Amino acid sequence: MKLRVGSKQLIKDLNISVVVDTIRKHEPISRVDIAELTRLGRSTVTGIVNLLLKEELIVEVGSAESRGGRKPVLLKLNPQARYAIGIKLGPSLITVALTDLHAGVLSKVTRPISSRQGPKAIFRALLGAIEDVTRDNPRSQGRIIGIGVVLPGIVDPSTGTSVSSHLLNWANIPVKALLEAELNIPVFVDNDANAFALAEKWYGAGRGKDNLLCVTVGVGVGGGIIANGQLYRGSIAGAGEIGHITIDEHGPLCACGNSGCLEALASDGAVVRSAREAMDKGQKTSILEVAGGDPSAVTREIVVSAAREGDRVARRILRETGQHLGTGIANAINLLNPERIVVGGEAVQQAGDLLLEPLRESMKKRSFSILADRVDVVPAALGENAWLMGAATLVLEEVFKPPIYGMEGNKPTLAIPSLVDPAAEGR
Ligand SMILES: [Zn+2]
Repeated sequence: MKLRVGSKQLIKDLNISVVVDTIRKHEPISRVDIAELTRLGRSTVTGIVNLLLKEELIVEVGSAESRGGRKPVLLKLNPQARYAIGIKLGPSLITVALTDLHAGVLSKVTRPISSRQGPKAIFRALLGAIEDVTRDNPRSQGRIIGIGVVLPGIVDPSTGTSVSSHLLNWANIPVKALLEAELNIPVFVDNDANAFALAEKWYGAGRGKDNLLCVTVGVGVGGGIIANGQLYRGSIAGAGEIGHITIDEHGPLCACGNSGCLEALASDGAVVRSAREAMDKGQKTSILEVAGGDPSAVTREIVVSAAREGDRVARRILRETGQHLGTGIANAINLLNPERIVVGGEAVQQAGDLLLEPLRESMKKRSFSILADRVDVVPAALGENAWLMGAATLVLEEVFKPPIYGMEGNKPTLAIPSLVDPAAEGR
């Protein structure tokens, strides 16, 4: 399958892309303020704005307070002028979303997978899901500006390669190259927790904050760092792996090979392991009852349900899980000095304060008080869409960043394609 890339290609030149990016990030905004922020001349800005209005990439929305003279008209992006695709690849599920230019999810398609299937079968399922989501939205045909893919583990975003993912059981899979060859559209790949952090920074609980630590808790424990307003990736894009800092040198074995990692102590698997240990020791708990009498049917969901009904063992397990998370985050606070911690992922969405309260206590106890006093811990705001929005944000950040990324024939190039109809240029 080839996705049809619009013949009216992306942004015409550097100045246009700078103006679009400024409007996207500061909307609603007046022409005067665009000129001030971009340092472009007012007549240049006016010319570009007229072009963008004609192309319906931006719209006028009312007017701002006058600073003397005529009230300036405000401009904002027309979010459905173009589209992006955001994809989350997990060990058991693929989710493909069509988003607008603010990364808002318009529709999504999911496909169950198994990490035992191997990359080939997973890519087939992925291509099928992309085809479905675009077919369901005919307006998106020829108007998709790129695809963002996020997955667990170490990802090299410069080549779009999944370097190592123990959850998917992948090593050196060239995700970007495989999809670009198949779909003829720019593809951007990153770690899922990084994407989560980007989405929460731009659209969620981290809005307006420039130094953030975002932590996701579920099947694994992941982290994304926003430092000085930018994603901090480290030297080979391996930064943020808070799930694999050691909490207990003599703790249980982790999937990464180390023992006592935060992930080995606070992921869904750890919660289930603790519940089974308690049952094996004959501790009085309703967990087995909630699981229908089958110890192998115990899940994190079941432990949280039991805790909500007041089961003491389940509450103790979640308290300890929260404490481990707080210890890991305390270490990160001393290292990074963030102003906000955003905690999300399926486990936090479900358990809420049952995890967050002990997390906050342990975090305060174990980090420098001067740093802990100035950081707040908040639940993530975007729910399960955060990863998809983050994946789409990878596209929006790159496509609107000069020089503009494009495709020439089947080859991705650093080109300056045009968002603008060539006919409109002869104004
Ligand atoms: Zn580990």
